[in-house]
Amino acid sequence: MRENKDRICIRELEVYAHHGVFPEETRLGQKFFVNATLYTQLRAAGTEDDLSLSTDYGRVCQTIHSFLTEHTYKLLEAAAEHLAQQLLLDFPGIRELTLEIRKPSAPIPLPVSSVSVAVTRGWKRAVIACGSNMGEKERYLEEAMRKIADDTKCRLLRSADRIVTEPYGSVEQDDFVNGAFLIETLYDPEELLTFLNRLEAEAGRERIIHWGPRTLDLDIIFYEDMVLRTERLIIPHPDMHNRTFVLEPLAQIVPDWNHPLCQKTVTQLLEELLRKRKGLGEET
Ligand code: ADP
Ligand code: MG
Repeated sequence: MRENKDRICIRELEVYAHHGVFPEETRLGQKFFVNATLYTQLRAAGTEDDLSLSTDYGRVCQTIHSFLTEHTYKLLEAAAEHLAQQLLLDFPGIRELTLEIRKPSAPIPLPVSSVSVAVTRGWKRAVIACGSNMGEKERYLEEAMRKIADDTKCRLLRSADRIVTEPYGSVEQDDFVNGAFLIETLYDPEELLTFLNRLEAEAGRERIIHWGPRTLDLDIIFYEDMVLRTERLIIPHPDMHNRTFVLEPLAQIVPDWNHPLCQKTVTQLLEELLRKRKGLGEET
């Protein structure tokens, strides 16, 4: 849920550009109109009457204009997707935006006044657990953290202290080093998993034995308050509440994050698990 409803609205910004599937559209160009709603905190700028505390809508209009004139896309969908991303990267104050691109002269042989495409995109919070139990464990985790922080579509907000833990499951293997990150990202959950899998592969990870030794394991624990179950991806991570090596680092960086299915905070889940481990679970 959006905690802040402050917004800046740009209506009907006119741009002459060359997007379209038909060759005449890219050759001759046509008028496009852009509507943008930018969700951002306005209280400080309003209280202080200070532009530097807000998002400069003049600059936003300039960015929209240059972007749409300097690029050529076949689809309005592509223009909207890439422009939304550019605005979210260029203006850090914008947490989320809705962007509509309207094409009043779309080549449709019917009496239609215009067609438009609208997308809503924004920075999403996600929690990632990391672990390593092969080779230079600390270095693998440091590298992963650096690559996440350096990725344009991710911002690293918090990182937990590393902990050393004994392996989980039945496979005989070396101790783990575990940690966790709180990030903000423009990736959707599937794209985030693909990105994390790439980092695992770059760390030389080979998937040989399930729950076996690994140079780097990166799991998505939470993604906003999303509940998701696809063939590749389950969010929240289905086993996180049974793992102290996940919950302990999480308790440091996101103690009050509410598990959307259990309806319990990370701190509560950890306390419950530790109680169970001590054999007191039955009494509560
Ligand atoms: P584990 O992390 O349980 O030790 P793996 O890292 O080998 O095991 O992951 C096995 C599969 O789990 C991956 O191929 C991935 O598609 C899937 N998976 C499902 N949900 C998640 C999640 N939330 N985060 C990461 N991987 C997940
Ligand atoms: Mg994994």
